[in-house]
Amino acid sequence: MTRSDPPPQPAGAAAAKALAWTHTARFLVTAARLEQLPQLELAEIGFVGRSNAGKSTAINRLAQQKRLAFASRTPGRTQHINLFAVGPKNAPDALFADLPGYGYAAVERAAKLRWQEVMAQYLAQRRSLSGVVLLVDSRLGFTDLDQRLLRLLEPRLAGGVVRLLVLLTKADKLSRQAAAQASREATALLSRECPAHADVAVGLFSALNGSGVDDVAVRLDAWAQPRDALQTTM
Ligand code: GDP
Repeated sequence: MTRSDPPPQPAGAAAAKALAWTHTARFLVTAARLEQLPQLELAEIGFVGRSNAGKSTAINRLAQQKRLAFASRTPGRTQHINLFAVGPKNAPDALFADLPGYGYAAVERAAKLRWQEVMAQYLAQRRSLSGVVLLVDSRLGFTDLDQRLLRLLEPRLAGGVVRLLVLLTKADKLSRQAAAQASREATALLSRECPAHADVAVGLFSALNGSGVDDVAVRLDAWAQPRDALQTTM
């Protein structure tokens, strides 16, 4: 008797498609201020997080490229927004935006204030913003600045315009039990801080061992679909 291969798992197929899509990410443009960013009619996914939370590593892992995003601690370069195009070569269908990391102690006060201004403007005003990925170190949980960012984003979450995915990074450093605890605490905080009807999710993530990577890719791929298309298929 010959054994035929099992049919592909729908979940596996969705992840493979989504990862093939995130792997297309390529650098597009860098900007110091919101008004310098191009206004393209593409769904944009913003990556935000405290310095050292693992944002660059997560973007690189999703893109399967070693140095697409890199944390620059050089004063003056920490404030930049970097855009990456995602999708077919000549017809990208989404953008990833790498926002400045925050909370780095050595940054002078003026730079901190400017960060606040750039982030507040970006989160409140960027018209094409479709979703936000907030990276939080799973061992630290939400810091004050993360919570401030949630408050900046809250009106747009409440309006249903923007979705939020919180990634608890470096999950490989936690025991199974500690990871479950970190997840519970993050979920509890989000249910307090974010409106009940908002599209908000939390997931454990490790760029090192790959846990959570498929789920993130599938979710971001869904965010990049035009809303009309989503409604007709759901
Ligand atoms: P960023 O400042 O948020 O861009 O943070 P980085 O991506 O530069 O990561 C900060 C540090 O955490 C680096 O030393 C990374 O190697 C480490 N790191 C990032 N992701 C992971 C992970 O999934 N697991 C582990 N163990 N370390 C990680």
